[in-house]
Amino acid sequence: MTGSVVFSVDAELAWGVHDLHPLSDEQVQRCQQARTRWRQLLDLFEMSETPATWAIVGHLLTDDWRYGTSHPLYPEWFEVAYDGFENDSSQWLGRDLIDAVALASVEHEIASHSFSHVIFPEIDAAVAAAECRLARTVGNQYGFECTSFVFPRNKIAHRDVLAECGFTCYRGLRPSRLPAIPGLRGLGLLAGSLTGGVTPPTVTPVVDEFGLVNVPASMFLGGFRGQPWSSVAAVTADPAVKLARKGIDRAGERDELFHMWLHPNDLTSQRYIDRVSEILAYVELKRRQGDIRVETMADVARRVSSTTDTTVGSAPTPVERTVREQ
Ligand SMILES: [Zn+2]
Repeated sequence: MTGSVVFSVDAELAWGVHDLHPLSDEQVQRCQQARTRWRQLLDLFEMSETPATWAIVGHLLTDDWRYGTSHPLYPEWFEVAYDGFENDSSQWLGRDLIDAVALASVEHEIASHSFSHVIFPEIDAAVAAAECRLARTVGNQYGFECTSFVFPRNKIAHRDVLAECGFTCYRGLRPSRLPAIPGLRGLGLLAGSLTGGVTPPTVTPVVDEFGLVNVPASMFLGGFRGQPWSSVAAVTADPAVKLARKGIDRAGERDELFHMWLHPNDLTSQRYIDRVSEILAYVELKRRQGDIRVETMADVARRVSSTTDTTVGSAPTPVERTVREQ
């Protein structure tokens, strides 16, 4: 057995923030750059021959409004998006970008990030079922099976509905190793990354009581920005790269999983492009040395399901809570 590394990507363009108003200047800029950043991130994976799980908002695949009109939250929930279809459709439609992922020489996984980026704990089971069904239907229509799921904003609920709709796994929450006190955890991580005393968690996927494989996250690569992270990164190596390397090493040493995730539009400047590029180069090196393998979430789900008693109720319930990412 060998340790494993997974990259998952929340691919959403403007759908990721259509419920937030007004948008900050930074959010507007991120939406405007999202297409460019998507292709840049895809190129980075391509150059390092690294497969990733791209969790897409299903509505990106289609400009057909009929999908929305059959949704229980129509019309209010789709108001901003459908205005966008008419005014600047490039931020709302992404079939070309998803095709670019599917046609890349690296074999990526196309997964689901819901149909219209609803926040699952805030909706009832009927809306969750509509989201899951529509995500799978539109995916299938364009040739993507979409069996892995990433919850919008990592807010987990209605896992029973996911299982009923044919999903096999989801990205679970990162185990918290430091107290979730705003500021304190970030400072603790920064200090730990500089002294080498902190390693982000490696994780163990488990089958939950609904038969879904929970593939927990280890580290959000889009964080670690602003002060004081940028001050440190300006004079020394990016502390986030150091942390990621330690997680990758630990996965290899312990035969565990290190699961990194990000959005394409987290590549807001060259610094963050360099961060991902350096981490991918390290993954490539460790893979060539035989210390780790790179898997998609679907690969992990297949592996875990084949070696686990998947009888419903065989695993403890993961704690459903939300965390603020760095
Ligand atoms: Zn999202």
